[in-house]
Amino acid sequence: MSTNLFIVKFTVKGIVQGVGFRPFVVKNAKKYNLKGWVLNDSNGVTLKIEGTERNITLFINEMKTNPPALAMIDKVNRVEKRKSNGVYSSFTIKKSVEMKHREALVSPDSDVCDDCLSELHDPKNRRYGYPFINCTNCGPRYSIIQDIPYDRKNTTMKNFVMCNKCKEEYENILDRRFHAQPIACWDCGPQLRLLDSTGNEVICKDPIKRAIKLLQEGKILAVKGIGGFHLMADPTQDEVVCKLRERKRRKHKPLALLSENIEEVKKYCKVGNEEEKVLKSNQRPILILEKKMPEMYSTHVAPNNKFYGVMLAYTPIQHLILHNNFGALVCTSANIIDHPIIYKNEEIIESVSNIADYILIHNRDIETRIDDSIVRVYKSPNKPNYVSDIRRARSYCPYPILISKTFPTGLGLGAELKNTICLNRDQKFFLSQHLGDLKNNSTYESFKECIKHLEKLLELKPKFIACDMHPDYYNTRYALNQGVLPVYQVQHHHAHMASCMAENGLENKKTLGIIFDGVGYGEDGNLWGGEFFVGNYLNYKRYAHFDYIPLLGGDIAVKEPYRIAIALLYQLYGKSLFGLKDLSVISNRKDGEIEILTKMAEKGINSPLSSSVGRIFDGISSLLGVCEYTDYEGQAAIELEQTIDSRDRKSKPYEYLVFKKNENIINLNYMIKGVVDDLSNKKSKSLISSRFHNTIVQICLDMANRARKEDGVQNIVLSGGAFQNVYLLENIEGILEYNNFRVYHHKLVPTNDGGISLGQLVVAGHRYLER
Ligand SMILES: [Zn+2]
Ligand SMILES: [Zn+2]
Repeated sequence: MSTNLFIVKFTVKGIVQGVGFRPFVVKNAKKYNLKGWVLNDSNGVTLKIEGTERNITLFINEMKTNPPALAMIDKVNRVEKRKSNGVYSSFTIKKSVEMKHREALVSPDSDVCDDCLSELHDPKNRRYGYPFINCTNCGPRYSIIQDIPYDRKNTTMKNFVMCNKCKEEYENILDRRFHAQPIACWDCGPQLRLLDSTGNEVICKDPIKRAIKLLQEGKILAVKGIGGFHLMADPTQDEVVCKLRERKRRKHKPLALLSENIEEVKKYCKVGNEEEKVLKSNQRPILILEKKMPEMYSTHVAPNNKFYGVMLAYTPIQHLILHNNFGALVCTSANIIDHPIIYKNEEIIESVSNIADYILIHNRDIETRIDDSIVRVYKSPNKPNYVSDIRRARSYCPYPILISKTFPTGLGLGAELKNTICLNRDQKFFLSQHLGDLKNNSTYESFKECIKHLEKLLELKPKFIACDMHPDYYNTRYALNQGVLPVYQVQHHHAHMASCMAENGLENKKTLGIIFDGVGYGEDGNLWGGEFFVGNYLNYKRYAHFDYIPLLGGDIAVKEPYRIAIALLYQLYGKSLFGLKDLSVISNRKDGEIEILTKMAEKGINSPLSSSVGRIFDGISSLLGVCEYTDYEGQAAIELEQTIDSRDRKSKPYEYLVFKKNENIINLNYMIKGVVDDLSNKKSKSLISSRFHNTIVQICLDMANRARKEDGVQNIVLSGGAFQNVYLLENIEGILEYNNFRVYHHKLVPTNDGGISLGQLVVAGHRYLER
C-alpha cells in the first residue's frame, strides 16, 4: 500500500526542557494530525513524527516561530527522513533518557506567569493564595536544579510527594502543569512559616497576613525568595529605612525598591517604553530608573542619588505581600556587609538576627545562590536604545552568550572582585551568575561550588584555565595549585578589552581598547586602570596610560578618596599644598594628617602607584567636596557624575599634557590646577565636574587620533567599570563616532569586572590554539 506519509526524526537543542516543550509538541501534533513520539534527552528534545510532508513542515515552522514562553530554540537537526506506510497509531511522550554527552541548556528562573497570577488571586481556585504556585511557563528553575535532565528527582522539590490532584495535572497532557517539575499545592507542596529574630515560630493562621501587618508596623522582615533571602521594609517610613541602614551598616548604597505593577513604579520613577518592557520581562531584573521629584519615598532609600533601582514582583510571595498593601517595598539582599546573599535556612537566623525583626521562611531549598540582576537602559546618541547588564545573575544565568569565535572548552576564573566564572562549549559562553568578592570565605566556597555545578550541569570538561596575573588573587592561586590543566594568565585590562571585542564579534582585528577601570594588576607590578591598548586577542601594546599617582595607604585609599585628592595636589604643589586652606579636602583633615600623607607621598611609603581612571574620579570627587569617604564601590564617581547639570554639558575641557616615552603618558597636573582655580573662583560643582568629564572625553579623542595615525586603528572598544558612568560613555562614544571611528561597548557582558572571566577565556583560548 502506498501512502503520502513520511517519518522524520529530528533533535531540538536549546532551552527546551522544563518549559512545557513536550506538551506544546503534543498539542501541535494533534493540530497537524501527526503521530509518533517525543522525549527529553541530554541533548534537549528528540522527536519522531509521522505525517504528510506539508503538515510536518507546518509543524516545524510553528515550533520555530511560536515556541512556549520560556523556550529558546537554538538548533533543529534532522537526523532521518523516509517514506512510511503508517507505523504509528498515536502521539506519545516517551520516558526521558540520560545520555553520555550532554548538550542540553539549563533554563534560568522565571517570574510568575499571568495565568498563575490570576489563580493566585482567585478565591475559587484551589491554589488561591498559595505562595509557591507555578506551572510549565513559570517558576524557579536554575536555582533548584541539582542535575540534568531536568526532572523533579533532580531538583530540590524531590522530597515533596505530589498529591493526587497535582499528580493528575502533572500527567495530563492538556493541563498547563503537565510535567511542571516544581508543581505543588496547599496539600502537598512547600509551606511558609514566620519566625521571630531568634528563630522561634510565630504561631499564626496566615504568615503572609501577619508579615504584611508587621511591615506596616515598621518592622524589618527577611523573606526567602528564588535565589536567597531579601530584607524588606516599608519605604514610606523614614525611621525603619534608617534602622535598616544602621543595622546593615550601609550608609549610602541605594536600596532597591520592589513594586507589584508598572503603574505603581510610574508614580515614583520616569518610565519610558523601553524601561517598561525591561521591568515587565520575565527576567524581572533591578532596573536603574530616574526618580520623579519630589521623592515619594524616604530620602534614605537612595540618598544623594537621582536614581532608584527598581524591580517588579517576581515570586508569588512578593505578589501576596504587595497586593493592595504597598506601593513599593524596600527589597535588598539579606547579607552581612561584604558577604554574599544568604540562601540557606540554617544560616539565616544566625546571620540576620541583628538585622531583621522577623523571618518569612519556607522549606523549598535553594540549590544555587543567585542575586537579583541589575540592568540599565542606555540611550545611545546614534544607535537604538539598548539594555546593558550591570550585574548578570537571576533569570539571565545560565543562559549562554554567543560569540563568533570557537575553540576547545576552557574555564575563565574572573577577577577577584565582582567575580564570575565562564565556561564555553564551542561558541556558547556560559558566564556564571555574579558571585562577589573572593576575599570573603563564603564567596570563595561559592566560587568553587559554582565551577563544579556548572561543569556538571553542562557536562563540560575544560582543557585549559584562564586567570588573572595578580599573584595573590584567590582565583589565581586556585588555578596555579590545581596542577592538571595548562594555565594562561591574562592581564586584567586585556581581558576587559577581549570581552568587549568578543561580545561585538570583532574577531581578531587590530583594535584600540580604551579601558577605564578601578584597579587591576599591571605587567610592571603597578596598578593599572586608565589604559589605551592597541592589539588583538593574542597581543597588546600599552599605547597610552594616565600618569601614575600614589594611592596613599594602599587599599584604604579606595574607601577614603580624600587620600587621592591629596596625592593629586601633592604631585602639583608639593609641600605648598599646605597653603590651600580654602579647599575643604585640606581644611577637613585632622591635625597632622596632611603631614603624614605628604610624607607617604614623598617617600612612597605604603603607596602603590596607580594609573586608574576610577581613582582619578575619586580624587576629583573629593577635591570638589562631593565625597570624601565611600561606603560602596564607585560611590565617589557616581555622585560626581550626578552633580552635572545639563546646562554645563558643553563646558570647556581643562588642559593636560602628554609625554611620549615608550608609551604616551597622560599627565593631569594642568587639569588639577584648573580645578583648584575654578574652586577658588567659586565656580559651581556642576561646571567643574562637567569640565573634568569633558577633559577625559577629549583625551580619548586625542589618543584615538594618534593611534589611528600611527597604527591605522579604526575599531575602538570601551570597557571597564568606569563606563557605567553614562555621561562618560555617551560623550566618548559620540565624539569618537563623529570622528569616524567604529565604537563598541557592552550589552550582555558586564562592562565591570563581572565580564572579566569571559575576556580571559577568549584570550586564553587563542593562546591555547597557538600553543
Ligand atoms: Zn505559571
Ligand atoms: Zn498538590
